[in-house]
Amino acid sequence: MAEFNAMDTAAFKGVWVFCEQREGQMQTISYQLLSEGRKLANDLGVELCGVVMGSGLNEDYIKALGGYGADRVYYLDSPLLKDYTTDGYAKALCDLVMDKKPEIVLIGATNLGRDLGPRCAARLHTGLTADCTHLDVDVEKYKNFLRTTSNMDVDNTKFEENTNLKMTRPAFGGHLMATIICPRFRPQMSTVRPGVMQTQPYDEAGAAKVVVEKITPALSAEDIHVEILDIKKSAKKLVDLIGADVVVSVGRGISSDPEKGIALAEELAGVLGGVVGASRAVTDEGWLSADHQVGQTGKTVHPRIYVALGISGAIQHIAGMQDSETIIAVNKNEGAPIFDVATYGLVGDLYKVVPELIKQIRAIKAAQ
Ligand SMILES: Cc1cc2nc3c(=O)[nH]c(=O)nc-3n(C[C@H](O)[C@H](O)[C@H](O)COP(=O)(O)OP(=O)(O)OC[C@H]3O[C@@H](n4cnc5c(N)ncnc54)[C@H](O)[C@@H]3O)c2cc1C
Repeated sequence: MAEFNAMDTAAFKGVWVFCEQREGQMQTISYQLLSEGRKLANDLGVELCGVVMGSGLNEDYIKALGGYGADRVYYLDSPLLKDYTTDGYAKALCDLVMDKKPEIVLIGATNLGRDLGPRCAARLHTGLTADCTHLDVDVEKYKNFLRTTSNMDVDNTKFEENTNLKMTRPAFGGHLMATIICPRFRPQMSTVRPGVMQTQPYDEAGAAKVVVEKITPALSAEDIHVEILDIKKSAKKLVDLIGADVVVSVGRGISSDPEKGIALAEELAGVLGGVVGASRAVTDEGWLSADHQVGQTGKTVHPRIYVALGISGAIQHIAGMQDSETIIAVNKNEGAPIFDVATYGLVGDLYKVVPELIKQIRAIKAAQ
């Protein structure tokens, strides 16, 4: 293996995406990160590589990663990588990084990625920016991003011309956005939450020409210090907010009768073909489980329709839903900040407005 020195920044080249699979099923975050990684790789003029770990995975399925932008996929195949262990995955990924020296490594901020990313960053002696919401290498593109998302005087600010990865993430409870760089060490590592980046359309030609390199990692049972005795899946089916076309979310505005408020949201979601989300106020109260939470510390969604019922529009909530195509807000306070981001706003009591909405939608559907 070539000598590894994280400070020898010139020796590192290429963009990598850790492609997470579970039980052979590729997680959608992998496609989102490949789509984003493709843009970065194009700007840098380098290869985009996916890294998949597992045992006996379907290789056609791995080739499909080319359809989302990968030029090359490293498939680390070992019985010791069948189930995730921090030790096994971290060793296999770090060994590969030390050998091939990518300049950027993107990992999904899933439960698995949040465990794997920091472990690898520490081992490789480099930095990691967690929960990024925006990534750029090109300075002009970064300036354009600032022009549209901030009130900074971009044209009168001096920017250093370089291709460091500019990793932007919410900071101080979402009250400001911070852009972090890792100029002295490589690889530059970042985790991104599922749903933040958009998946580009699948490209058959990309899948046909992707190069898959199957590698047997140098792993032995002694490298893994835990033994998996059993995997117990949660009996509860978690709500799929990220993939939903329509999300109807409830906030503390349902506090006078939470059960009725949630039933109304479920009924409205039912007629619109959507699922129920919530503000943190609702999940903190235990009226809905944490997997329903939308926002900075919950899920980031961009459905076709987002309905906010009795949600004030705190910055941390907005951070998770502002990119929805159409936002409909119902709130009895006409000054509520949610109306600043809403496409349509209804000022009124949700317990009165929602039954009427349901009635009208049903009538329109019946007439079609
Ligand atoms: C670090 C940090 C992370 C956070 N992460 C998140 C996050 O991920 N997601 C999130 O949601 N929050 C998050 N929060 C909390 C956030 O700051 C707000 O406290 C929370 O979003 C408020 O929830 P809400 O809008 O439901 O409640 P409130 O702010 O209490 O608003 C309730 C709204 O309901 C309206 N209302 C009341 N009764 C009715 C009625 N009958 N009909 C119609 N409208 C009615 C009121 O006018 C009001 O606007 C975070 C906070 C911090 C500090």
